[in-house]
Amino acid sequence: MKSVYMDNNATTALKKEALDAMLPYYTDIYGNASSKFYKIGRDSEQALYQMRVSVAENLGAVNANEIYFTGSGCEADNWAVKGAAFANKSRGNHIITSKIEHHAILNTCEYLEKHGFEVTYLDVDEYGFVSAEAVEKAITDKTILISIMTANNEIGTIEPIKEIADVAKRHKVIFHTDAVQAIGHMPVNVRELGVDMMSVSAHKFHGPKGVGALYIRNGVRIDNLIHGGGQERGKRAATENLAGIAGMAKALEVAVKNLEHSMSHCMRMRDRLIKGIKDNIPYCRLNGPEKDGRICNNVNFSFQYVEGESILMMLDMHGIAASSGSACASGSLDPSHVLMAIGLPHEIAHGSLRLSVCDNITEDDVDYVIEVLPHIIQRLRDMSPLYEGVEK
Ligand SMILES: *Cc1c(COP(=O)(O)O)cnc(C)c1O
Repeated sequence: MKSVYMDNNATTALKKEALDAMLPYYTDIYGNASSKFYKIGRDSEQALYQMRVSVAENLGAVNANEIYFTGSGCEADNWAVKGAAFANKSRGNHIITSKIEHHAILNTCEYLEKHGFEVTYLDVDEYGFVSAEAVEKAITDKTILISIMTANNEIGTIEPIKEIADVAKRHKVIFHTDAVQAIGHMPVNVRELGVDMMSVSAHKFHGPKGVGALYIRNGVRIDNLIHGGGQERGKRAATENLAGIAGMAKALEVAVKNLEHSMSHCMRMRDRLIKGIKDNIPYCRLNGPEKDGRICNNVNFSFQYVEGESILMMLDMHGIAASSGSACASGSLDPSHVLMAIGLPHEIAHGSLRLSVCDNITEDDVDYVIEVLPHIIQRLRDMSPLYEGVEK
């Protein structure tokens, strides 16, 4: 049976180059980067420094010491929001974010609300765009932090990060962006964007799982995350995951080098999928922007009269891996907070399907999905009491 992985917004396959870059740190170069009295320790320290320089360069940071390695994108998000909130609470207690952020941001903000902070969750428009004007209007003299994601993981909306960064700068508020879905899929440069902090996760751009980074511009006040030794300039103690970091640095280097080619390939696959689905399946709706402002690898549709989980199960039977924004997938009764925020009624949000592509996806893969999916949707609709009578 054919097997097609179209869940690249959930995670990606590790690149061969990244794996090759990791292996020496599991075998030969196993020294602790903090052990400076012998060669194998110094080799690790040197290597770690080079990886930091490489990540900094590929993200546009001025200094390598603005890159802090973390254990995940979630960790980077938690640290940015909690760390900046607590370090700046003498200046105010107000935080601004959006309703469509990743749960790593939303649940962290909820936690902070229990600790005396006030959070404004901004609305988005029907395509998922946050407006810079809305951000500016929400700012009060108590605002200390704004966190808006670069690209949304469910519907692919690319937010106006530069404009929001300008607003934040004008009002002297710290600005963080979760760029986890953007890196490797669009140009991302912290200096050009003008952000103060940015979250990164390796496994979303063909690096290994369990490693990420937080860019913290020099001068931004943020509490330390893990108390212990002096690693990560004392802010995030713990012996460094050298192999993981090596894999992330290499995956990022390759992603940046191939960005143009990779983006144009993904866009072609994305648009072929969108057109194929629209042309072959009635009663469907593309969620997120049509073209402009949509990340190159994301497709998200809602199909009326069907359940997202049922689509996933039947796709799986055909060897296709995808994702849904509907209820059971996330273990709760409510459909995706993102689909709710763009104004979808419950019953339509429940029938949603996310297909996310990458470099390795071919036209054949896309055509296979376009061949299989209409039959799946039709079969499910034939079984649905809601669909009875609709066809006539
Ligand atoms: C995947 C993802 C995260 C979490 O990253 P992990 O490394 O899996 O913890 C955070 N934000 C966004 C937008 C994501 O897509």
